[in-house]
Amino acid sequence: MNTGRDNQQLQTEWYRVSSRLKAEIGDTAFENWVKPMSVSGMEGSEVRLSVPSRFMRDWVEANYLDRLKELWAGENAGVHSIEVRILPKSKAVARDAAEGNEIEARGAEADGASSGAANGPQAKGWSVGSDISAPLDPHFNFSKFVVGKPNEFAYAAARRVAEAQSVPFNPLFLYGGVGLGKTHLMHAIAWEIQQRDPARTVMYLSAEKFMYRFVRALREQNTVDFKDQFRSVDVLMIDDVQFIGGRDATQEEFFHTFNALVDQGRQIILSADKSPSDLEGVEDRLKSRLNCGLVADIHATTYELRLAILESKAEQMQIDAPRKVLEFLAHKITANVRELEGALNRVAAHTQLIGRELTLETTQEVLHDLLRANDRRVTIEEIQKRVAEHFNIRVSDMHSARRARSVARPRQVAMYLAKQLTSRSLPEIGRKFGGRDHTTVMHAVKKVDELRDHDSTFAEDVELLRRMLEG
Ligand code: ADP
Ligand code: MG
Repeated sequence: MNTGRDNQQLQTEWYRVSSRLKAEIGDTAFENWVKPMSVSGMEGSEVRLSVPSRFMRDWVEANYLDRLKELWAGENAGVHSIEVRILPKSKAVARDAAEGNEIEARGAEADGASSGAANGPQAKGWSVGSDISAPLDPHFNFSKFVVGKPNEFAYAAARRVAEAQSVPFNPLFLYGGVGLGKTHLMHAIAWEIQQRDPARTVMYLSAEKFMYRFVRALREQNTVDFKDQFRSVDVLMIDDVQFIGGRDATQEEFFHTFNALVDQGRQIILSADKSPSDLEGVEDRLKSRLNCGLVADIHATTYELRLAILESKAEQMQIDAPRKVLEFLAHKITANVRELEGALNRVAAHTQLIGRELTLETTQEVLHDLLRANDRRVTIEEIQKRVAEHFNIRVSDMHSARRARSVARPRQVAMYLAKQLTSRSLPEIGRKFGGRDHTTVMHAVKKVDELRDHDSTFAEDVELLRRMLEG
């Protein structure tokens, strides 16, 4: 049993973990998936979370569990695992029921506010098509999509579909890793079509919701209505179709809906995290159907694209971010655009809250945990060794008390690089350099920055070392 104090501690941890996750995944996903969860206890090193439905549990496990574990371990090193349980009587459900929402639907609506205004101020955009269609995020339009080498093909295909009078290829199948802009492009197509021709009905929903609706229709023996709803749209978009794999009845229904729409010359747009051929648990005949149109992949981001995206976001958010900070983030946060955005949001929120200037230093501080996860594992020892070799001094001089410039300068360079390339704090770095004070490290960082500005040979030396260490 948990004592009251333990429980309070747990709630505090949950609050901190979920706030961090919110900054990373954005408000919409947070409202849909994280907020309805509650923490119900801790058993040994395992935290127990409750969700109101099976759909939610599967989704949370597939998408957020790993990150939740990392974040929680960051708050409390004693937590090693997280279990997500289905608990229909959780507080989240009671609250929703009180508000008159349909309990199960709440958990299953992959995109939240399908019932439009009924879900209150969180509902963004408006529904298109019918009530099944999820709302569109107003930010996910073409003008806010930054185009670069990794996504130019997918972007061009999306534009083509959005602007065409007739169906240029069917289906358009967009695929790529998580957080690379698939949903953004789909919403952008929907906005564009709506704007060009409001008479065309566009339906956008996640594959999860499609499945959920289908299962519910089966239960309510209402599949005719279900089919009609889908078959009367001009453009059908289904996001994340990898979730259809393995569910035979839903797949079957999807296949028929798909064929019916294609036969009637309606446009279908799908997204997934894999190419049609690589989708697991999907029948061959469906795979070959999916391959019939245009398959466009979004590749992992490049440094240039990440920097361009950051510049665009900073401008939209009207934050005055020094180029150095943006370069640092583009350099360090490489996983996907969502994480990149999350990082910028966090830094911006923090500096605004605290009223501090946005600098490289604050960025490193605020993103400490995230950076550590993204660290390319350059160690301080490695830095010391390389720098010593480069300047022809002994590694032991990195720790020694000698103050001769011939050793003090390389030592400062090593401290500087340790600050730049690892996510260690100033005191931690100081300790690794013969137990020096954090102010000594701070001074070293300042000094090296100054020298770099005034001495181009020195600047080149440092740059060379940095590149070597980053491999
Ligand atoms: P996916 O659906 O592929 O997982 P999303 O479309 O949800 O990814 O994108 C994640 C976040 O990154 C969104 O906030 C989106 O606006 C942003 N994003 C992704 N790619 C780009 C891009 N090229 N330009 C601007 N924002 C982008
Ligand atoms: Mg998506």
